[in-house]
Amino acid sequence: MTRIASVKTYPISVPRPAPVWTAHEEITAWSVILTEVKTDDGLVGYGEIHGASAARICEWVARFGEIVQGMDALAHEAVWDRLFALTSPRPGAIEDGQMRPVPRGERNAVMAAIGGIDIALWDLKGKAAKMPVYKLLGGENRPVFTYSTGGYYPRDATIHSAAEEMAAFVAKGYRAVKLKSGGFTVEEEIERVAAVRTAIGRDTLLMLDMNAAYGLNDCIRFARGVEAYDITWLEEPLHWFLQPADYVQLAAATRIPLSHGEREIHRYTVRDFIECGAIKYLQFDSTRAAGFTESIRVAQLAEQHGVFVVPHHSPEIHAHLVLALPEVGYCVESHGSDVRDPLPHHVFRDRVTFRDGHIHLADKPGFGLEIDWDAVERYRLS
Ligand SMILES: [Mg+2]
Repeated sequence: MTRIASVKTYPISVPRPAPVWTAHEEITAWSVILTEVKTDDGLVGYGEIHGASAARICEWVARFGEIVQGMDALAHEAVWDRLFALTSPRPGAIEDGQMRPVPRGERNAVMAAIGGIDIALWDLKGKAAKMPVYKLLGGENRPVFTYSTGGYYPRDATIHSAAEEMAAFVAKGYRAVKLKSGGFTVEEEIERVAAVRTAIGRDTLLMLDMNAAYGLNDCIRFARGVEAYDITWLEEPLHWFLQPADYVQLAAATRIPLSHGEREIHRYTVRDFIECGAIKYLQFDSTRAAGFTESIRVAQLAEQHGVFVVPHHSPEIHAHLVLALPEVGYCVESHGSDVRDPLPHHVFRDRVTFRDGHIHLADKPGFGLEIDWDAVERYRLS
């Protein structure tokens, strides 16, 4: 049996030349936590986590690493269940000398930590089997459709300043682009979307990522205002506290499909978003929470409901999932240049290649991540 020997993290952060905003928050750096799981017979698997705070998440990975040490490294379901069980009370937990149930306030960090360990185990599994993860899942290698995200708001953003940036992605070969949205008033945003549509032409797909900018009525007004610009999806359209019932109301009021999922941290809330019928695209992010195992579970439910799987972020991980879903695996997210997102371009060497609006996975075992350790050392947080 291949047993887990150790679990380690490498928190990495690259400062941005200047801060930018989504509708919701300021972004001052590109950050990732690499996870590393080693086995007693010399295999090494790598995963990645996107979340905050890095210190809290790394602490949880370390604690969980002790708990799973000695477990079968190929038993990803058993490891997942062992760790997830720690998020709820159990009989005798106060006295049994084991780890106490995790505090409520730590849930996001804990689910991120579980995710990072789980992804590394999938990488390890692929290396043990000498197969890419998509092949383990029965997927066939093919080019994976991708879009480039842009239109983040710099401090001096104007209504028209994103149009040129989005057009530049099209010039690089992207056939789809996603515009950060929701930073201005509804009327200003409608004008901004119109400017982007003019700049990218009629044949480029255009998604809008609203980062939960609006309440229901404002969002309906916005959606109706941009319908004429042929929008592929509205992503995270509603405030963070709004629920599937609110998405049902929004979906009934616009013909633009809705996309959701990157902020959900487990499959049970995702289930309710899928089953309510309001969303057409699912963006669950295994690197933010709960890992690749959970992303397979939600993808299979999505498939049963005809919901397209379009995972948020990390194409080097999520393209493997998309390849395993012939019916509903639709696309992955990219950030169109190394200026926009230096982490994947520098920390992961030979990660994925972009050509003709698609990414192409190599036939390497696991997720095929080649890590540039010099870059890791350069950008590593102490
Ligand atoms: Mg988003």
